[in-house]
Amino acid sequence: MTYDPDNIFAKILRGEIPSTKLYEDEETFVFMDIMPRADGHCLVIPKTPCRNLLDASADQMTAVMKTTQKIAHAVMKAFGAEGVTIQQFNEAVGGQEVFHLHFHVLPRHDGVRLRPPGKMEEADVIAANAEKIRAALA
Ligand code: 5GP
Repeated sequence: MTYDPDNIFAKILRGEIPSTKLYEDEETFVFMDIMPRADGHCLVIPKTPCRNLLDASADQMTAVMKTTQKIAHAVMKAFGAEGVTIQQFNEAVGGQEVFHLHFHVLPRHDGVRLRPPGKMEEADVIAANAEKIRAALA
């Protein structure tokens, strides 16, 4: 399996399509998921190309996991969450839909299930939730 440089997250990284950015450093980029399964659902990706965990380098994994941990703390603070779910899928049969490595970060509250996938959120709701996460990161 090869990396497709025209996948949607590669386009986001190149600024060819918009995203709601939360954080970036030299190696990673973090933005809101447009079909959130929980309030504050966001995605952590490496800036360099790889399809998923199966072809990622040790350096890419290290960078992405460091940022995922940082964002996990931030979303818990931002939403007063009691826990956080990290999801990561590999290849279509593994549930992957976008073929650029990404980790989902989902703040969780007692008794609140994840929403079903595939439902677009209103832009103003995503913007307001992003602001809370940015404030928690500051
Ligand atoms: P996965 O590949 O792990 O199954 O999921 C891909 C994720 O990317 C989904 O949660 C989906 O909502 C999200 N997604 C798909 N297209 C876009 C997009 O254009 N922008 C953003 N921000 N998220 C997207």
